[in-house]
Amino acid sequence: MKVLKFGGTSVGSVDSILSLKNIVEAEAKKQSVVVVVSALGGITNQLLSTSQLALKHNDRWKDQFDAMVDRHHKMIDTIITDTKKRENLFNTVDQLFEQLKSIYYGVYLIHDLSPKTQNAIVSYGERLSSNIVASLIKGAKWFDSRNFIKTEWKNHKNMLDSELTNKLVKDTFEDLPRISLVPGFISRDRDTDEITNLGRGGSDYTAAIIAAALDAEVLEIWTDVDGFMTADPRIIKNAYTIPELSYIEAMELCNFGAKVVYPPTIYPVCVKNIPIRIKNTFNPDNPGTIILNHIQEDDKLIKGISSINGVALITVTGLSMVGVIGVNRRIFTALTKEGISVFLVSQASSENSTSVGVKEEDADAAVAVLDHEFAAEIEDGAMFPMHAEKGLATVAIVGEKMKHTAGIAGKLFGTLGRSGISVIACAQGASETNISFVVKSDVLRKSLNVLHDSFFLSDYKVLNLFICGVGTVGGKLIEQIKKQYEELKERSRLKLNVVGIASSHNAIYNRDGLNLDNFKAELKKSETSSPEKLRDHIIAMNIFNSVFVDCTASKDVAALYQSLLDHNVSVVAANKIAASSDYTSYIRLKNTALSRGVKFRFETNVGAGLPIIGTINDLRNSGDKILKIQAVLSGTLNYIFNKISSDCPFSETVRLAKEEGYAEPDPRVDLSGTDVVRKLVILSREAGYKVEQEDVEKNLFIPKEYFEGNVENFWKRLPELDAEFEVKRKKLEAEKKRWRFVATFEGGKTSVGLQEIDMRHPFYDLEGSNNIVMLTTERYKEFPMLIQGYGAGASVTAAGVFANIMSIANI
Ligand code: ADP
Ligand code: ASP
Ligand code: MG
Repeated sequence: MKVLKFGGTSVGSVDSILSLKNIVEAEAKKQSVVVVVSALGGITNQLLSTSQLALKHNDRWKDQFDAMVDRHHKMIDTIITDTKKRENLFNTVDQLFEQLKSIYYGVYLIHDLSPKTQNAIVSYGERLSSNIVASLIKGAKWFDSRNFIKTEWKNHKNMLDSELTNKLVKDTFEDLPRISLVPGFISRDRDTDEITNLGRGGSDYTAAIIAAALDAEVLEIWTDVDGFMTADPRIIKNAYTIPELSYIEAMELCNFGAKVVYPPTIYPVCVKNIPIRIKNTFNPDNPGTIILNHIQEDDKLIKGISSINGVALITVTGLSMVGVIGVNRRIFTALTKEGISVFLVSQASSENSTSVGVKEEDADAAVAVLDHEFAAEIEDGAMFPMHAEKGLATVAIVGEKMKHTAGIAGKLFGTLGRSGISVIACAQGASETNISFVVKSDVLRKSLNVLHDSFFLSDYKVLNLFICGVGTVGGKLIEQIKKQYEELKERSRLKLNVVGIASSHNAIYNRDGLNLDNFKAELKKSETSSPEKLRDHIIAMNIFNSVFVDCTASKDVAALYQSLLDHNVSVVAANKIAASSDYTSYIRLKNTALSRGVKFRFETNVGAGLPIIGTINDLRNSGDKILKIQAVLSGTLNYIFNKISSDCPFSETVRLAKEEGYAEPDPRVDLSGTDVVRKLVILSREAGYKVEQEDVEKNLFIPKEYFEGNVENFWKRLPELDAEFEVKRKKLEAEKKRWRFVATFEGGKTSVGLQEIDMRHPFYDLEGSNNIVMLTTERYKEFPMLIQGYGAGASVTAAGVFANIMSIANI
């Protein structure tokens, strides 16, 4: 025989209840089944909240009550087609509702709601639903579980009397009908006969008790997800079904908040070695999860992650506790007497403090109990008064394979540290199937995500991108991400989630990923933003594995990097301002990234997509020393000096460079050499030298006064220079030389300036807007290393930014 339990969602709607009917009838063709059902989804909560309204003498209790009646009536009207059956069922159901109404009315009148009354009220949910299902399924026999599930009052709780229950279940089902229908959750006190229950979520337990007593072949728990998942699917979008779990793993995950199975459920079936299968009522063909004693080997070190929010940590500490025998015994005895359960204990080996994790609602009582227990020690100063830290959450990672595998705790805490999450307390049982730790509630989601990701529980690694700037480079980058998205998912198991996009005045966010097809329209409709708002929003979203991508040329955006890195957000910058700003800030950014375990990457600051900074870093890391750098680093200037001819005067070449999209937004940044100076400073710094922009000697080719005033003025005056340039150009042509604007670093000195290059020089043939960098190092001395190629353009720059993002994903 089999026991099938259907949860609230499986009896919540007409569709689900009809699916339940099909599942049960198909199973009953093969063997006898006991079907355990919960209340209609959400009804238990409504029964409770209605009782609170009645208690507070709020007349709205009647509306809520009527709504419940209405929901049940509608359900019956739709699913029970046989008139006679429907009439009988209405009779039963209305009788139950009448009793329930009288109880509520009593509560309303006398302003009192005892736990006993509350238990009576809450029992109606399952009593109603089970009658409906029994009437729906042909040949089903209804049983009242209160007659055979018995509890006793122990440690301030209703606890199952297993022995008595076991016997009664066996007696009740001695002649097992083909289909038995049983309400879950509800029970009776063995001594007083009052209605009790097995606790919230307790229908699972009812089913397990029956399965164990009747030696069922399997216990099936039918719910609304495809089985036991690697994490709570409401929090972790990438969570997926675990095909097999051991009883121990399932127990650990449930104890730490995996709501899919009520924790006490596992024990009765585990001792009888009865497998539990978790299945989806809405997707019956999915195999779901099987929970067994011995599971097949798989390569996953960690099976799942679960968490409990609303936790408080109470630390019992003092100066002279060391070696005092019995402190722990007294803590636990005192808490147990009060019915307070402890789900995490952490004790330092100095024995100077013991921290216990309890539910937040138990915290005040726990503090009072412990203060009372240790009153004498507190009085004589050996111990401090108790203190509860609230607003916490506990997370547990679970997997039997963790046993004897080194490095899991290291990876766990390393991962959390890199995400800026601090661990308040932690515990690992000697069984080594669970490591649990306490964090602040506001980083719970991030902790779960980052761990799910780093232990490769997910099918994909996720990188969450905030892209700032949607101009030429930003726009191209988004296009490239969109194009590569599927390919990266397939080939690299990487999901590039764009969670934020900001233009200069607007910003849009979505932690699950923005739709890149219509982001421009969305941006237009969005609220206005500013760099500060953007920063605050990113920090508040607190998303794991996040990367800020700066595709602007804005000083204000560059000013955000420090606080973003401080909050463990990696930064990829196409914007050169930060890396070329004062040396102290540059070093601080790099050091922050290093100490926080995040990345600050700016490869495209020099030579767009060319691998220049990366190469310098590789050379240095492998022990080489950069002695000299000579480079043509301005695509714009190179374009201009390649373009200039008798037909195309100087001013015209500048205009063309702008039109072709090579120039910086303000061409003066190129022509004044500022852009090249910034790049040279960055290269010299990456080569290991302390260089500031002011240190660079500038030999300019446009008189200083042209840069004063506004940009319009600049454009207006530029043609004045054409004649003089033409004279010089003719001379140069005759000498078979070319102009190159060269940046040089040598012996700690830096300079930029226009040089006349002859035909034998490697810079002579540098075409279009290309860049070239010549690195003379200790290893590449006689024949320097040359890196050459497109040094400007939105596509190659965006591709360089993309490569930087990928380099973060690959660590
Ligand atoms: P039922 O009404 O069927 O008893 P519950 O709401 O009690 O259903 O439990 C199922 C829900 O548990 C799922 O809808 C899911 O949101 C939640 N859940 C939390 N953690 C997990 C997990 N690790 N695997 C599957 N579901 C989980
Ligand atoms: N209906 C009860 C609850 O909501 C029991 C259950 O669903 O398992 O807690
Ligand atoms: Mg449940």
